[in-house]
Amino acid sequence: MTILDGKKTAAKIRAELKERVSRLGFQPKLAVVLVGNDPASAIYVRNKRKACEETGIGSVLVTLPETATQEEAESAVDALCKDNAIDSILVQLPLPAGLNEERILGIIPPEKDADGFCYENAGRVALGERGISACTPAGVMELLARAGICVAGKRTVVLGRSKIVGRPMAALLLNADATVTICHSKTKNLTEECLRAEIIIVAIGKPNFLTADMVSEGAIVVDVGINRDADGKICGDVDFEAVKEKAAYLTPVPGGVGPMTIAMLLRNTVEAAERKK
Ligand code: NDP
Repeated sequence: MTILDGKKTAAKIRAELKERVSRLGFQPKLAVVLVGNDPASAIYVRNKRKACEETGIGSVLVTLPETATQEEAESAVDALCKDNAIDSILVQLPLPAGLNEERILGIIPPEKDADGFCYENAGRVALGERGISACTPAGVMELLARAGICVAGKRTVVLGRSKIVGRPMAALLLNADATVTICHSKTKNLTEECLRAEIIIVAIGKPNFLTADMVSEGAIVVDVGINRDADGKICGDVDFEAVKEKAAYLTPVPGGVGPMTIAMLLRNTVEAAERKK
């Protein structure tokens, strides 16, 4: 079994991006909007800004209190959209209850969309056209490609159909000529669907969800999940110890898809700056 090492691959991508930044002639800037006090969001934002710093990308943090109104959140994002020094904008999700996420994300112009969540980019990717891809699925594609894994023609199962992972993941795989099945909570015979797959991408949000009996010998398994186990330790959606005995390739958690997601956020920002230039 080969470990698909997202940490190492992301470090390589960051080094490549640093080169591209140095050729730009100006510092690209990512704006991060953090609303409320969610501790996990605060950690994600800190990690993203640290990665920016390591890559020579500037980052601007705009924080709003848990009590921020829809108007206040929209006006903070709108100011960043109008600021020519800002190349890309990320609104950290989830937003506090009561804020309309779609309306806030909808303000971001497609060219400044750091996460690839705005309708135009998501639509373009869904239609197989050029657009900014959501970072996590783009990170999975990059990790597979850099490991020399060609998805074209492969039977691929995506577990999960969320807007930020499952759906764009399936679209990117289809755009790369994979044969794609999307499974979700209403799927019947999930084990049979998974056993048919040469590649399984798991984005469910449940520790140890994918067990060894759901994986065929020699399959490629990508674990997108980030959960905490009973001891509070970070774990994915895959029963790593059991599945590693059957899979040909497997991503660890942590150190798999997570660092690749951040690398793609940096790439989206550098590409936005290159387009501006
Ligand atoms: P969501 O909760 O939005 O979606 C989960 C999906 O799993 C849904 O489509 C749901 O189906 C499906 N599902 C839930 N239970 C079952 C089941 N028993 N059988 C089959 N399908 C099921 O989660 P996200 O997509 O946002 O995230 C998934 C995981 O990935 C989480 O652990 C999250 O933390 C992690 N994540 C990791 C990132 C990274 O950078 N590595 C980035 C983003 C997320 P239905 O639609 O029918 O409800």
